[in-house]
This record gives sequence, structure tokens and C-alpha cells, in this order.
Amino acid sequence: MSSPPILIVGAGPTGLSAAYHLGADALLVERERTVGGQCRSMAVKGFIFDQAPHVMTSNDPYVLGLYDLLLGDNVQWQDREAWVYSKSVYTRYPFQASLYGLPPEVVKECLLGAIEARYGDWRSAQERARATSSGEAVVPSLTDWVSKLAQAGASNGNGSANGNAAPLAKTPGVEPPHNLEEIIYQLWGPGIARHFSIPYNRKLWGIPLEEIDPSILAGRVPQPDLSDMLEGALSDTHQSGPSSRFGYPQHGGSQALMNGFLPHLRGPIRLNADVTRVSVRDHTVTFADGSTATYDTLISTIPLPELVRRLSDDAPLEVRNAAAGLHHVSLRCVHLGFGRPKLTYKHWIYYPEDTVFHRIFVQGNASADCNPPGGFGITCEVSYSDRKPLMFDGASLIARCINDCRRVGIIGDLVPVWAAFTTDQPYAYVIHDHEHAERVRVIRDWMAAHDIVLAGRYGEWSHHDAAQAFLAGRAAADRAHATLASHDYRVA
Ligand SMILES: Cc1cc2nc3c(=O)[nH]c(=O)nc-3n(C[C@H](O)[C@H](O)[C@H](O)COP(=O)(O)OP(=O)(O)OC[C@H]3O[C@@H](n4cnc5c(N)ncnc54)[C@H](O)[C@@H]3O)c2cc1C
Repeated sequence: MSSPPILIVGAGPTGLSAAYHLGADALLVERERTVGGQCRSMAVKGFIFDQAPHVMTSNDPYVLGLYDLLLGDNVQWQDREAWVYSKSVYTRYPFQASLYGLPPEVVKECLLGAIEARYGDWRSAQERARATSSGEAVVPSLTDWVSKLAQAGASNGNGSANGNAAPLAKTPGVEPPHNLEEIIYQLWGPGIARHFSIPYNRKLWGIPLEEIDPSILAGRVPQPDLSDMLEGALSDTHQSGPSSRFGYPQHGGSQALMNGFLPHLRGPIRLNADVTRVSVRDHTVTFADGSTATYDTLISTIPLPELVRRLSDDAPLEVRNAAAGLHHVSLRCVHLGFGRPKLTYKHWIYYPEDTVFHRIFVQGNASADCNPPGGFGITCEVSYSDRKPLMFDGASLIARCINDCRRVGIIGDLVPVWAAFTTDQPYAYVIHDHEHAERVRVIRDWMAAHDIVLAGRYGEWSHHDAAQAFLAGRAAADRAHATLASHDYRVA
């Protein structure tokens, strides 16, 4: 029996979606013994933990339909309880709209800074007004930038060919921000920047924010108006609505969403199949056990630098150099199962200050089914990279996380620990530095000319969430079918 003409490498959300859309035309191969990629979950001592925290947030009608197909009734939707811990106070996320409870001088600095970001330096507004012929203040507006960033994010959601943010056009009269630090100051003002956005992003990325392109914020720009900011500073306002709800499988963790594909796949799937070599000359891949598979068109969802490494000398120097210049952040997750029920009602919390973790995902509230009787699970996320090495690891990282959980009031002194272990995501967040878009373009163009379609968060080196990965898988399936059709044409 001949193998299908399309080979998909990697059974995460992108590969599963591509396989679903390609039906019997594709063989799906996966290195691990289960499907799911970053959305895998583990059962440990009665707890269920996502390997890396995963919730469903899409409002895209197609993705909502997929959720339905994959999970049926096994889903629950909740209003998100997202929080920030700063100055020894928990405030709601987004921080910009929820300053209530912070020290008054911090609230004042954030509000005045937000006014300045919108209307310019209000202290000298009158002088500038006098300086203009019309007598009106020249007010730089960032509204256009915000809408462009939102559009760029929306284009990501279409599973577009490269999945990267569209280049942002210059708005006449407004000096465009050159990097993440500048855009943070311009969008939210110096108070919000100093007290939350800058320290949090520095902690997460581990590099100076001047090195990161502003396009990293595409589609992720909470920009409350001043009236909402004032309201959020004066009282604990809880904004609910479609975008503040999230879904999660009732049973089985985020793995359940991934397993939902399995009954719908019509092509073959091969697990424990680690691709170690790709030959574009022979159109073959070689697996760790020495076996091989041929392809007409290859869809790769594995991290781009890993794919280029597996091509070895088949890839020209230009492509290898471009791949060597791609940078990313890795993640250690510390999963903790405590012997106390319902330690908090929050779902996830951002920590911009001195805790070892930058975020806690409250697994036990994503679904109560993730906890054993009397227990409660959380996951502490700790980013690292070659430029931000881990200061602690293994047992000492776990001890540090537990200690920090006590310091920030998540647990009390005597709470027993029933489960504690770490998992590693060598590739977690891709870094959009200023050269990244050009480097990805060089690699993508060469791959396309050699019948390789790049797809997904790490395949396209982008910021897809799992819903965008579903769409990227569908788009990759369309492109692979188009490539196949052009080959049939060439043969004829
Ligand atoms: C910390 C964190 C939190 C996140 N939270 C959310 C969230 O809440 N909601 C959300 O929607 N998204 C979230 N995401 C994003 C989501 O994880 C990704 O969008 C999604 O996993 C991308 O899917 P993918 O299939 O492109 O890649 P992956 O999930 O990485 O899948 C790639 C697959 O390729 C396999 N593979 C790798 N190398 C080989 C090889 N040599 N041979 C064969 N197979 C191989 C891997 O084992 C893996 O199964 C989060 C990501 C991170 C890092």
C-alpha cells in the first residue's frame, strides 16, 4: 500500500488540524507517545495538570464549531478571574483598567501617565496651544496605532501564510514606536509602564525590551478609555463580556481537546516517530529508529530552527544563518498539588515583581475535575533562556516556588504538598526581534520552493494561540493540496 502523499510532522494543535482537514491524503507523525503538543496534560497523584497552561478563548465562529466537534458536552465556560499581584496587592487584569486597591500615589501616577499618553504632556499643553497658529493643542493620537495592531492580530487569526503580524504602516504625524519599550510608554503612559508592563515583560522575555519589535503586541492591546480607568481606580469593577470568558474541558484537561481530533482523523498516524533527518533531494524523512517515509509535500509544525537542523547541508548557508538568528524563550513549569480545597477563586495571576515565577495558572479552577478530593492544583511558570538562565532548578526551584506562593498569600504555612514536579518547554515564546520577520521570510521562501509548508506557532515562528494553530493547520492543508495539484499538473 503506498503511503499518503502529504506528511505532517508534529501532532500538536496545528498538525492535528491539518490532518483533520487533509483526511486520507496525509500521514501524521509525532515524536511523543501521545498527541497534543504543548496542550498535553498529565495525571499525577489524582491531579490533572496541563503541561503548559491552556484555556480556550477564541470567538471565531469556525473555531467555536471545532470546539463543539472536539469536546461536545465536555466543556465549561466561565468568566475569567485574571489578576495582577503588585505592591502587595491583588488587582484585576488588565492592570490598566483596574488600579483599585493600589497605593494612592501609584494610582495617581498611572492615571496622570495615561492622560499624558493620550493627550501629550498636559503640563505644557497650554504653551503648545499658544505656539500653534490655531491656538489649539497639537495632540498626538495613537488611536490609529491601536487599531492597526488589532488588525494585525486579526490577520494572525486567519491562519495567514506566514502567521506573523502584518508590518505596521506609519501614521502621518505620529512617530511610530520602534520597540516594545517605546510602544508600552506611548500606549499606556509612564505610570502603567513603570509599575506593571515594563517589569512584567522584562521578567518574561529576559532581554531589554528595546530589542523586541512592537509587532509583538499585535492583537494584544488592552486599551481601556479614561472613563473605564477612572472607574477601575475608584472601585473593584468586574468587567464581564464575551472576551472575558474562557472555555476549558470539564474532564481530562486540555488533552481532552486534542484527543477530540482522534475519532475524526481518516489518515494514518504514527506515534513515537522522532524525525531526525529531512532530505529535500529525495523527499524523504528519516526517523530515530532508522526507518524512513517518503512525501510529495511536507507540512512541518516543529520549531523552525529544529527543522533547519534536520535538513543539514540540504539547506543553503543563507537559510542556516537565518535559522541560527531566531531567538526564543523557554519555560519551566512547576506543578504543585496542595492538600487543601479551593485555595483561591482566581484563574491566573501575573507577578511582575520579585517572585521566581512570572505567572500562576490556577489549574484547580480551570475545572474542579482537575483536583482529587480535598486537593487543589496550581502551576507556576518560570521563563528562562540563554540570556536569562534559571537561578534555581529541580528541588530548589520547587522549594522556591512554594515559598513564594506563601509570600504572596496563595497558601498558608501549614498547607500540605501532595504533588510537586516540573516540566520543561524548550520552545515556549518566540522572540520578535527586529530581524525576525526577514529571517523567517528567507526560510519560508526556500522551504516553499522545496515543497515544505511551514505551519503553526513554532513552524511559522509566530505567536499563535491554540485556536490560531487550528486555523494555521487548515491553511496549511489548503496549501499542501494546492502544491499537490501543481505537481499533478507538472507530471501531466
Ligand atoms: C506557556 C504557554 C501557555 C499557552 N497558553 C495558551 C492558552 O491558554 N490558550 C491557547 O489557545 N494557546 C496557548 N498557548 C499556545 C499554544 O500552546 C500553541 O499555540 C500551540 O501549542 C501550537 O501548536 P503547534 O501544533 O503549532 O505546536 P506544538 O504544540 O509545539 O506541537 C508540535 C508537535 O511537534 C512534535 N515534534 C517536535 N519535534 C518533532 C520531531 N522531530 N519529530 C516528530 N514530532 C516532533 C512535538 O512533540 C509536538 O507534539 C500557550 C503556549 C505556551 C508556551
